[in-house]
Amino acid sequence: MNYRHAYHAGNFADVLKHTVLLALIEAMQSKPTPFCVIDTHAGSGCYALDGREAGKTGEFKDGISRLLYPDLHGSTAKAASLPPLLRRWLDSILAVPGNEDGLKVYPGSPLQAANAMRAEDSAQLCELHPEEATLLHELFRRDPRIHVHQRDGYEALSGLLPPKEKRGLVLIDPPYEAQEAEYKRIEQAIKAAMLRWPTGVYAIWYPIKLRSQVQPFLRWLSRCGAKRVLRAELMVHPDDSPLRLNGSGVVILNAPWKLDEILREPLQAMARLLSKERPAEWKLDWLLQEGAEPPAPSPLPPSRLAALRLLASHAPGPRPSSSAPPASRAPSSRAPSSRKPSSGTTSPGPTSAAPSSRPPRKGGPARPR
Ligand code: SAM
Repeated sequence: MNYRHAYHAGNFADVLKHTVLLALIEAMQSKPTPFCVIDTHAGSGCYALDGREAGKTGEFKDGISRLLYPDLHGSTAKAASLPPLLRRWLDSILAVPGNEDGLKVYPGSPLQAANAMRAEDSAQLCELHPEEATLLHELFRRDPRIHVHQRDGYEALSGLLPPKEKRGLVLIDPPYEAQEAEYKRIEQAIKAAMLRWPTGVYAIWYPIKLRSQVQPFLRWLSRCGAKRVLRAELMVHPDDSPLRLNGSGVVILNAPWKLDEILREPLQAMARLLSKERPAEWKLDWLLQEGAEPPAPSPLPPSRLAALRLLASHAPGPRPSSSAPPASRAPSSRAPSSRKPSSGTTSPGPTSAAPSSRPPRKGGPARPR
């Protein structure tokens, strides 16, 4: 457990994830009955952007900073002319104590959720790392709506479902220190969760390095038993390098009706403002719509397929005089057909720097997710 979100707080991936989180909470609030937010990987809840960790990577400068101060980044866009959801999200960040004179503090998902929730709503937060969990406890010591658990979020999830409110959303935002293993843990957790609470809304964040690594996971999610599955993605680099975070996405299981319409303009604006050396790209599409057939089962992973093909190519062919049936062929890797996603592009803008003055905070090494 080396990952510390303090190195990454407010980066382009947080911008997408937390805008989706606000849209989901607002959708929950369209009904007067209370709801529960369950954050399985909560982090410490709040991050100093002028601290050592954020200063070391400067990731927020290519994230939230570009939206708040587009003119500093060479963009002609005006912060005030942003789509309303994005504007409300930025206002909520600036309303956090410490940001009175501009962006100094970045609230994590637990604090953003708590600030958006009503008095009757509640939250269950899980965080495994002892130091992060202590900070989280401290942050919400006086808030009776919020319950902090220092434990494994995957293990805790089943026990927290269904929430007593019978309405709510689960955010799954792990560090992906071992990407393949994390997919498997998410799949196991979702499988168990869907048995206990099939109607819950689940938002799962995922990193994009190589596109081919993500596809089987997305296919699994679209067949996990949810009625509707929406995917929102933002790519700031081409998705062809395993060495860096090229983009990220959020899959929403049982997504609220019309969530795609709510997210479309904000995603377009994010892509416009977060572009770097090339125009950023975005995707917003239903991987599964209500009433539609789930896609066909996942084909074998590419590594296993390649091994099978190799074996097949070395297998002895049928002897000319043999009456044996022909050797069986390696399975096909054809992916199931999917709807054409809506996507857009925008133009790049230069980067900028912000000052760093806060005392350093302890933490592990920066780890690109
Ligand atoms: N959700 C937070 C936000 O948006 O502000 C960021 C969370 S960060 C990406 C992932 C967190 O999960 C880290 O703080 C890490 O310590 C914690 N973590 C790692 N494995 C965990 C597990 N199995 N259960 C709960 N927390 C875990």
